[in-house]
Amino acid sequence: AFLREADLNRVIQDTLLLLRRECESRNVALGFEPGDVPVFRIDVEKVRQALLNLVKNALEAMPDGGSVRVTTGVDGDTAVVTVADTGPGIADNDLPLIFEPFFTRKGAGTGLGLSITQRIVEEHHGRISVESSAGAGTTFTITLPMG
Ligand code: ADP
Ligand code: MG
Repeated sequence: AFLREADLNRVIQDTLLLLRRECESRNVALGFEPGDVPVFRIDVEKVRQALLNLVKNALEAMPDGGSVRVTTGVDGDTAVVTVADTGPGIADNDLPLIFEPFFTRKGAGTGLGLSITQRIVEEHHGRISVESSAGAGTTFTITLPMG
């Protein structure tokens, strides 16, 4: 991995800018609530990719619009990023499967986005988790150790 000291909030802000038009055209409100995160070593391109995958999934889950909220914060020596949407949620039966390569519920999905995202997070020695239930939206949480 190509690690360098970077401002996580800046990386996220730049990445979300790329998605702003698409969100507008889909009637999705995209919000970012940055917390106080010190610079630390990350692979900027990979973190961008991981975030893009999560937000794109959120958009694809909300064909009739909704909202996506991204937050950052710090918990001890760990940076925490959350991506929450107001979409239909993920069925309990699917939850254990969504990080598996090629698992998709989409007609033309690759099923690779979340497995790639998980791999990127693990390359940073972090963790990714999901909280979701049918009808109640979905929140992905990424933790990245800063030390
Ligand atoms: P793909 O997007 O190609 O289907 P992913 O690995 O990105 O592959 O996602 C796997 C599956 O996880 C999706 O097909 C979908 O069923 C589910 N999923 C992921 N993110 C969300 C979300 N935000 N809301 C609802 N379902 C989701
Ligand atoms: Mg995807």
